[in-house]
Amino acid sequence: MSDWCITLVLTMTHPTRSTDAREERGRQLARAAQIRRVGRRWAVPSQTRASERYLVDVEGAACTCPDYAEYRGTCKHQHAVLFWIAWGRDVGEDGSVTETVTIKRRTYPQKDWRAYDASQAHEKEYVERLLRALCAGVPQPPRTPGPGRRPLAIGDEVFSAVMKIYTRLPSRRVESDLHEAAARGHLGRVAHYTSLQKFLADPATTPILTSLVEQSAAPLAVIEAGQYAVDSSGFSTAVYDRWFSQKHGKLYSKNAWVKLHVMVGTVTHAVTSALVTSGGDCPQLPELVRRTRAHHDVRELSADGAYSSVRNHDVLDALRVEAFIPFNPNAKVNPKAPAWSRHLYEFLMNQEKFLQHYHRRSNIETTFAMIKAKLGAAVATRKPTAQANEVLAKCVAHNLCCVVKAIFTAGLAPTFWPDAPAVPPTPALAPAEASSDSDDDDEPGAP
Ligand SMILES: [Zn+2]
Repeated sequence: MSDWCITLVLTMTHPTRSTDAREERGRQLARAAQIRRVGRRWAVPSQTRASERYLVDVEGAACTCPDYAEYRGTCKHQHAVLFWIAWGRDVGEDGSVTETVTIKRRTYPQKDWRAYDASQAHEKEYVERLLRALCAGVPQPPRTPGPGRRPLAIGDEVFSAVMKIYTRLPSRRVESDLHEAAARGHLGRVAHYTSLQKFLADPATTPILTSLVEQSAAPLAVIEAGQYAVDSSGFSTAVYDRWFSQKHGKLYSKNAWVKLHVMVGTVTHAVTSALVTSGGDCPQLPELVRRTRAHHDVRELSADGAYSSVRNHDVLDALRVEAFIPFNPNAKVNPKAPAWSRHLYEFLMNQEKFLQHYHRRSNIETTFAMIKAKLGAAVATRKPTAQANEVLAKCVAHNLCCVVKAIFTAGLAPTFWPDAPAVPPTPALAPAEASSDSDDDDEPGAP
């Protein structure tokens, strides 16, 4: 191993050294070992003495190992069982997944400030590594044979574009960050800044970024509670429309807006699908739901009154998604629209239940606030395609931040492109940890 690798490991594990190390060992155990259920406990093999087993009580958060006896916190065996369950490896032959759901969802503390601080401190390092894994799955079209310089890999172009948006640096100034990322092995080749600008202005980039928004939120599906929300928001541009009003004898101007339509998970605030279009809000709902359902189990959806249409209620009803969309005061039961009529009836008869669920919608405002505060409420480019791509790249960067938070606070072990054949960089996703120091790990107090 080279020197830089060792340095990186030390820097990244510093603040929460022992917690991270236990978690990482747990992850290794869950990957390598056979964990078995024994009554209401789980038998986890010792990492050093394969013949020995420790018994983990997940509900009581206890273990029979010496480390737990001394430290009384979550030991690596408990982490191993939580990963084992979260990865669905406890699914029985008959397909039963007893208790998996409750345990999976139990672990998303909102106020674990220590874990949250650690996630913030390491965010950039993790975003870079996650982005590399995400870009590794971007399909690369075959090169057209002939002379000339090898074109840049699309994965590298996407990596550069999203890093530019995440760092909020102009194309020229982001180059030094990209060279550093290349030195760390996260990027193949650094493009000239003009290629980066061209890539962002290319209409072919839009579907790539749209799919990356969805892929980057996919690992968070296990944390979501089936509740999602839909809304739109504008990003301001540097482009002004100016016109002269004959009536008032004045020159008027206004900002042009880029309109982003999104669906978000109300627990993690990740953008599960995104569309950039100047079209109205209401017609975007079916497509946003369709795209989100590719990776998420959508059970209920909150949206404001702008999305209340016969078609949207029909679509949600057909997909068995419970709709929490308020109706106009003058909405009427329509025999030709049974789903709409039924939802209207439920809305009128059970306002209390409606409001409890509709309240989840506020999480989408939080999401927009998070994106705009961290990545900017405006777009820097002038061409409409580049503006749309810039906003989509903001969504990808935001989702990666959500994944980082979930790694630290919920022990998420993300995998992108689960259906793709083999994505090599998965090991880079584990919180960095030296793998060489596993010989003393069962001693009390050892991390
Ligand atoms: Zn233990």
